[in-house]
Amino acid sequence: YYNEESVIYYNGKFIKAKEASENPYSQSLHYGNGVFEGIRAYNTPNGTRIFKSEEHYKRLKYGAEVMGIQFNYTADELTKLTYELLERNGLKDAYIRPLITTGANMSLLTSNETNLIIQCWEWGKYMGDKLLRVKTSSFQRPNPKSCFVEAKVTGHYINSILSTNEAKNNGYDEALLLDMNGNVAECSGANIFMQKGGKLYTPPRGHIMAGITRATVIDLCKETGISIEEKHFTLEELKNADACFFTGTAAEVVGLQSLDDYKFPLDWEKSYGYQLMKLYKDEVLGLMSKKKSELSNEIKQ
Ligand code: PMP
Repeated sequence: YYNEESVIYYNGKFIKAKEASENPYSQSLHYGNGVFEGIRAYNTPNGTRIFKSEEHYKRLKYGAEVMGIQFNYTADELTKLTYELLERNGLKDAYIRPLITTGANMSLLTSNETNLIIQCWEWGKYMGDKLLRVKTSSFQRPNPKSCFVEAKVTGHYINSILSTNEAKNNGYDEALLLDMNGNVAECSGANIFMQKGGKLYTPPRGHIMAGITRATVIDLCKETGISIEEKHFTLEELKNADACFFTGTAAEVVGLQSLDDYKFPLDWEKSYGYQLMKLYKDEVLGLMSKKKSELSNEIKQ
Protein backbone atom coordinates (compact mmCIF):
# COMPACT_ATOMS: atom_id res chain seq x y z
CA TYR A 1 0.00 0.00 0.00
CA TYR A 2 2.86 2.35 0.58
CA ASN A 3 6.53 2.79 -0.03
CA GLU A 4 9.32 5.17 1.01
CA GLU A 5 7.88 7.95 -1.13
CA SER A 6 4.15 7.65 -0.30
CA VAL A 7 2.56 10.90 0.79
CA ILE A 8 -0.45 11.12 3.07
CA TYR A 9 -2.57 13.99 4.30
CA TYR A 10 -2.31 14.18 8.08
CA ASN A 11 -3.97 16.86 10.20
CA GLY A 12 -3.56 19.77 7.83
CA LYS A 13 -0.26 18.77 6.19
CA PHE A 14 0.99 16.56 3.41
CA ILE A 15 3.72 14.37 4.88
CA LYS A 16 5.58 11.17 4.02
CA ALA A 17 3.67 8.11 5.26
CA LYS A 18 6.81 6.84 6.96
CA GLU A 19 6.94 9.99 9.10
CA ALA A 20 3.41 9.60 10.48
CA SER A 21 2.80 8.34 13.99
CA GLU A 22 -0.33 7.71 16.00
CA ASN A 23 -0.69 8.02 19.74
CA PRO A 24 -0.56 4.62 21.52
CA TYR A 25 -3.40 5.82 23.80
CA SER A 26 -5.64 6.55 20.81
CA GLN A 27 -9.27 5.67 21.42
CA SER A 28 -9.47 4.36 17.86
CA LEU A 29 -6.72 1.87 18.54
CA HIS A 30 -8.21 0.64 21.81
CA TYR A 31 -11.95 0.76 21.14
CA GLY A 32 -12.39 1.09 17.38
CA ASN A 33 -13.87 4.58 17.62
CA GLY A 34 -12.86 5.86 14.20
CA VAL A 35 -14.59 6.37 10.88
CA PHE A 36 -13.31 5.68 7.40
CA GLU A 37 -14.22 5.65 3.72
CA GLY A 38 -13.24 3.70 0.64
CA ILE A 39 -13.24 5.78 -2.54
CA ARG A 40 -11.84 5.30 -6.02
CA ALA A 41 -10.30 7.63 -8.54
CA TYR A 42 -10.22 6.64 -12.20
CA ASN A 43 -8.01 7.78 -15.01
CA THR A 44 -10.69 8.96 -17.44
CA PRO A 45 -10.45 10.54 -20.92
CA ASN A 46 -11.09 13.86 -19.10
CA GLY A 47 -8.34 13.38 -16.55
CA THR A 48 -8.34 11.89 -13.08
CA ARG A 49 -11.82 11.76 -11.60
CA ILE A 50 -12.82 10.75 -8.08
CA PHE A 51 -16.05 8.80 -8.44
CA LYS A 52 -18.90 10.14 -6.28
CA SER A 53 -16.55 11.96 -3.95
CA GLU A 54 -19.32 14.02 -2.41
CA GLU A 55 -21.43 10.95 -1.54
CA HIS A 56 -18.43 9.26 0.09
CA TYR A 57 -17.40 12.30 2.10
CA LYS A 58 -20.99 12.89 3.21
CA ARG A 59 -21.06 9.32 4.50
CA LEU A 60 -17.77 9.93 6.33
CA LYS A 61 -19.24 13.06 7.94
CA TYR A 62 -22.39 11.15 8.88
CA GLY A 63 -20.23 8.51 10.61
CA ALA A 64 -18.35 11.17 12.58
CA GLU A 65 -21.62 12.81 13.57
CA VAL A 66 -23.28 9.65 14.93
CA MET A 67 -20.11 8.78 16.87
CA GLY A 68 -20.00 12.29 18.38
CA ILE A 69 -16.63 12.96 16.74
CA GLN A 70 -15.85 16.61 16.09
CA PHE A 71 -15.11 16.98 12.41
CA ASN A 72 -15.49 20.26 10.58
CA TYR A 73 -14.16 19.69 7.07
CA THR A 74 -16.77 20.08 4.31
CA ALA A 75 -17.16 17.45 1.61
CA ASP A 76 -15.87 20.03 -0.87
CA GLU A 77 -12.70 20.72 1.10
CA LEU A 78 -12.07 16.99 1.46
CA THR A 79 -12.49 16.45 -2.27
CA LYS A 80 -10.00 19.22 -3.07
CA LEU A 81 -7.47 17.81 -0.60
CA THR A 82 -7.89 14.37 -2.13
CA TYR A 83 -7.19 15.59 -5.67
CA GLU A 84 -4.07 17.27 -4.37
CA LEU A 85 -3.00 14.10 -2.57
CA LEU A 86 -3.41 12.05 -5.76
CA GLU A 87 -1.28 14.53 -7.63
CA ARG A 88 1.44 14.54 -4.97
CA ASN A 89 1.56 10.73 -5.20
CA GLY A 90 1.52 10.76 -9.01
CA LEU A 91 -1.58 8.52 -9.00
CA LYS A 92 -4.37 8.62 -11.56
CA ASP A 93 -6.11 5.29 -10.90
CA ALA A 94 -6.24 4.85 -7.15
CA TYR A 95 -8.04 3.62 -4.10
CA ILE A 96 -8.47 6.37 -1.50
CA ARG A 97 -8.74 5.74 2.22
CA PRO A 98 -9.78 8.67 4.43
CA LEU A 99 -9.68 7.80 8.13
CA ILE A 100 -10.78 9.86 11.11
CA THR A 101 -9.21 8.73 14.35
CA THR A 102 -9.92 9.91 17.87
CA GLY A 103 -7.19 11.07 20.24
CA ALA A 104 -5.64 9.80 23.44
CA ASN A 105 -8.53 9.05 25.75
CA MET A 106 -9.10 5.86 27.72
CA SER A 107 -12.65 6.69 28.76
CA LEU A 108 -15.66 5.42 26.84
CA LEU A 109 -16.78 8.92 25.99
CA THR A 110 -15.77 10.13 22.55
CA SER A 111 -12.50 12.03 22.70
CA ASN A 112 -12.46 15.73 21.82
CA GLU A 113 -9.32 15.25 19.77
CA THR A 114 -9.79 14.27 16.15
CA ASN A 115 -7.21 13.36 13.52
CA LEU A 116 -7.76 13.19 9.79
CA ILE A 117 -5.61 10.92 7.69
CA ILE A 118 -6.06 10.48 3.94
CA GLN A 119 -4.10 7.79 2.15
CA CYS A 120 -4.18 6.56 -1.42
CA TRP A 121 -2.60 3.71 -3.29
CA GLU A 122 -2.82 1.75 -6.50
CA TRP A 123 -5.26 -1.12 -6.13
CA GLY A 124 -6.74 -3.50 -8.67
CA LYS A 125 -10.28 -4.80 -8.42
CA TYR A 126 -10.48 -5.96 -4.78
CA MET A 127 -12.16 -9.31 -5.38
CA GLY A 128 -10.62 -9.83 -8.80
CA ASP A 129 -12.53 -10.54 -12.00
CA LYS A 130 -13.16 -14.23 -11.68
CA LEU A 131 -16.52 -15.49 -10.43
CA LEU A 132 -16.62 -15.87 -6.66
CA ARG A 133 -17.23 -18.97 -4.60
CA VAL A 134 -19.07 -17.74 -1.54
CA LYS A 135 -19.83 -19.27 1.84
CA THR A 136 -22.77 -18.40 4.06
CA SER A 137 -21.22 -17.09 7.25
CA SER A 138 -21.97 -18.34 10.73
CA PHE A 139 -21.72 -14.66 11.75
CA GLN A 140 -24.70 -12.32 11.32
CA ARG A 141 -24.61 -8.64 10.42
CA PRO A 142 -24.81 -6.50 13.57
CA ASN A 143 -28.20 -5.69 15.04
CA PRO A 144 -29.02 -2.13 13.84
CA LYS A 145 -30.07 -1.36 17.42
CA SER A 146 -26.54 -2.11 18.66
CA CYS A 147 -24.77 0.38 16.39
CA PHE A 148 -25.26 2.64 13.36
CA VAL A 149 -24.95 0.06 10.58
CA GLU A 150 -24.78 2.70 7.84
CA ALA A 151 -21.75 4.39 9.39
CA LYS A 152 -18.32 3.11 8.36
CA VAL A 153 -17.02 2.89 11.89
CA THR A 154 -13.68 1.08 12.18
CA GLY A 155 -14.87 -1.12 15.09
CA HIS A 156 -17.78 -2.47 13.04
CA TYR A 157 -15.28 -4.15 10.73
CA ILE A 158 -14.50 -6.88 13.24
CA ASN A 159 -17.67 -8.55 11.95
CA SER A 160 -16.32 -8.35 8.39
CA ILE A 161 -12.92 -9.70 9.42
CA LEU A 162 -14.42 -12.66 11.32
CA SER A 163 -16.64 -13.63 8.41
CA THR A 164 -13.90 -13.21 5.78
CA ASN A 165 -11.43 -15.28 7.84
CA GLU A 166 -14.03 -18.00 8.23
CA ALA A 167 -14.83 -18.10 4.49
CA LYS A 168 -11.14 -18.12 3.43
CA ASN A 169 -10.15 -20.70 6.05
CA ASN A 170 -12.80 -22.98 4.60
CA GLY A 171 -11.51 -22.58 1.04
CA TYR A 172 -14.03 -19.98 -0.20
CA ASP A 173 -13.42 -16.53 -1.69
CA GLU A 174 -15.91 -14.46 0.29
CA ALA A 175 -18.58 -14.57 2.99
CA LEU A 176 -22.31 -13.90 2.74
CA LEU A 177 -23.92 -12.63 5.93
CA LEU A 178 -27.55 -12.86 6.96
CA ASP A 179 -29.22 -10.27 9.15
CA MET A 180 -30.52 -10.97 12.67
CA ASN A 181 -33.90 -11.99 11.20
CA GLY A 182 -32.36 -14.59 8.90
CA ASN A 183 -32.76 -12.55 5.71
CA VAL A 184 -29.88 -12.17 3.29
CA ALA A 185 -27.99 -8.97 4.13
CA GLU A 186 -24.68 -8.47 2.32
CA CYS A 187 -21.11 -9.62 1.85
CA SER A 188 -18.43 -8.60 4.37
CA GLY A 189 -17.53 -5.54 2.28
CA ALA A 190 -20.04 -5.40 -0.58
CA ASN A 191 -23.78 -5.42 -1.26
CA ILE A 192 -25.67 -8.24 -2.96
CA PHE A 193 -28.10 -8.49 -5.88
CA MET A 194 -29.85 -11.63 -7.11
CA GLN A 195 -31.49 -12.27 -10.47
CA LYS A 196 -34.61 -14.42 -10.62
CA GLY A 197 -37.14 -14.73 -13.43
CA GLY A 198 -35.80 -11.75 -15.42
CA LYS A 199 -35.79 -9.43 -12.41
CA LEU A 200 -33.19 -8.19 -9.91
CA TYR A 201 -33.67 -8.04 -6.16
CA THR A 202 -31.49 -6.45 -3.49
CA PRO A 203 -32.14 -6.21 0.27
CA PRO A 204 -33.57 -2.86 1.42
CA ARG A 205 -31.63 -0.54 3.75
CA GLY A 206 -31.88 -1.27 7.45
CA HIS A 207 -29.37 -4.01 8.20
CA ILE A 208 -26.82 -3.23 5.48
CA MET A 209 -24.29 -0.61 4.42
CA ALA A 210 -26.05 1.87 2.13
CA GLY A 211 -23.55 1.19 -0.62
CA ILE A 212 -22.78 3.97 -3.04
CA THR A 213 -22.10 1.35 -5.74
CA ARG A 214 -25.45 -0.28 -4.88
CA ALA A 215 -27.17 3.09 -5.45
CA THR A 216 -25.28 3.55 -8.74
CA VAL A 217 -26.32 0.08 -9.94
CA ILE A 218 -29.96 0.72 -8.98
CA ASP A 219 -29.82 3.97 -11.01
CA LEU A 220 -28.29 2.11 -13.97
CA CYS A 221 -31.15 -0.42 -13.79
CA LYS A 222 -33.72 2.35 -13.80
CA GLU A 223 -32.03 4.11 -16.73
CA THR A 224 -31.85 0.96 -18.83
CA GLY A 225 -35.20 -0.56 -17.85
CA ILE A 226 -33.80 -3.55 -15.93
CA SER A 227 -36.47 -4.45 -13.41
CA ILE A 228 -35.12 -3.98 -9.87
CA GLU A 229 -36.84 -4.30 -6.50
CA GLU A 230 -35.50 -3.63 -3.00
CA LYS A 231 -36.93 -6.50 -1.02
CA HIS A 232 -35.92 -8.93 1.72
CA PHE A 233 -35.18 -12.47 0.61
CA THR A 234 -34.10 -15.61 2.41
CA LEU A 235 -31.16 -17.92 1.88
CA GLU A 236 -33.53 -20.50 0.36
CA GLU A 237 -34.75 -17.95 -2.17
CA LEU A 238 -31.16 -17.00 -2.99
CA LYS A 239 -30.33 -20.67 -3.54
CA ASN A 240 -33.10 -20.72 -6.11
CA ALA A 241 -31.88 -17.65 -7.99
CA ASP A 242 -30.62 -17.67 -11.58
CA ALA A 243 -27.60 -15.45 -10.94
CA CYS A 244 -26.07 -13.24 -8.28
CA PHE A 245 -23.49 -10.46 -7.94
CA PHE A 246 -21.82 -8.20 -5.37
CA THR A 247 -21.27 -4.44 -5.61
CA GLY A 248 -18.81 -2.17 -3.81
CA THR A 249 -16.32 0.60 -4.45
CA ALA A 250 -13.40 -1.81 -4.10
CA ALA A 251 -15.17 -4.86 -5.60
CA GLU A 252 -17.00 -2.84 -8.32
CA VAL A 253 -19.50 -5.35 -9.86
CA VAL A 254 -18.45 -8.96 -9.49
CA GLY A 255 -20.38 -12.15 -10.25
CA LEU A 256 -20.84 -15.22 -8.07
CA GLN A 257 -20.20 -18.72 -9.28
CA SER A 258 -21.68 -20.46 -6.26
CA LEU A 259 -23.03 -20.10 -2.77
CA ASP A 260 -22.13 -23.01 -0.44
CA ASP A 261 -22.87 -26.03 -2.67
CA TYR A 262 -25.40 -24.21 -4.89
CA LYS A 263 -24.12 -23.24 -8.34
CA PHE A 264 -25.92 -20.30 -9.99
CA PRO A 265 -27.33 -21.80 -13.19
CA LEU A 266 -27.41 -18.79 -15.56
CA ASP A 267 -24.19 -18.11 -17.49
CA TRP A 268 -22.61 -14.96 -16.05
CA GLU A 269 -22.28 -13.48 -19.55
CA LYS A 270 -26.03 -13.86 -20.05
CA SER A 271 -26.97 -12.23 -16.74
CA TYR A 272 -27.93 -8.63 -15.93
CA GLY A 273 -24.97 -8.55 -13.55
CA TYR A 274 -22.59 -8.91 -16.48
CA GLN A 275 -24.26 -6.05 -18.37
CA LEU A 276 -24.20 -3.90 -15.24
CA MET A 277 -20.53 -4.68 -14.67
CA LYS A 278 -19.78 -3.26 -18.13
CA LEU A 279 -22.08 -0.25 -17.67
CA TYR A 280 -20.50 0.48 -14.30
CA LYS A 281 -17.03 0.53 -15.87
CA ASP A 282 -18.25 3.18 -18.34
CA GLU A 283 -20.10 5.12 -15.66
CA VAL A 284 -17.01 5.57 -13.47
CA LEU A 285 -15.06 6.76 -16.52
CA GLY A 286 -17.85 9.20 -17.37
CA LEU A 287 -18.39 7.46 -20.74
CA MET A 288 -22.13 7.34 -20.82
CA SER A 289 -22.59 5.51 -23.20
CA LYS A 290 -23.78 3.82 -26.29
CA LYS A 291 -24.04 0.63 -24.26
CA LYS A 292 -26.76 2.08 -22.05
CA SER A 293 -29.11 2.90 -24.91
CA GLU A 294 -28.33 -0.35 -26.70
CA LEU A 295 -29.14 -2.35 -23.59
CA SER A 296 -32.24 -0.34 -22.92
CA ASN A 297 -33.47 -1.06 -26.50
CA GLU A 298 -32.70 -4.75 -26.06
CA ILE A 299 -34.66 -4.90 -22.81
CA LYS A 300 -37.67 -3.10 -24.31
CA GLN A 301 -37.92 -5.66 -27.13
N1 PMP B 1 -21.15 -3.36 2.65
C1 PMP B 1 -20.14 -3.16 3.52
C2 PMP B 1 -20.18 -3.84 4.84
C3 PMP B 1 -19.08 -2.33 3.15
O1 PMP B 1 -18.06 -2.13 3.99
C4 PMP B 1 -19.07 -1.72 1.88
C5 PMP B 1 -17.93 -0.86 1.46
N2 PMP B 1 -18.13 0.45 1.93
C6 PMP B 1 -20.15 -1.95 1.02
C7 PMP B 1 -21.17 -2.78 1.45
C8 PMP B 1 -20.21 -1.31 -0.32
O2 PMP B 1 -20.36 0.08 -0.21
P1 PMP B 1 -19.84 1.06 -1.34
O3 PMP B 1 -20.52 0.64 -2.60
O4 PMP B 1 -20.29 2.40 -0.89
O5 PMP B 1 -18.38 0.94 -1.42
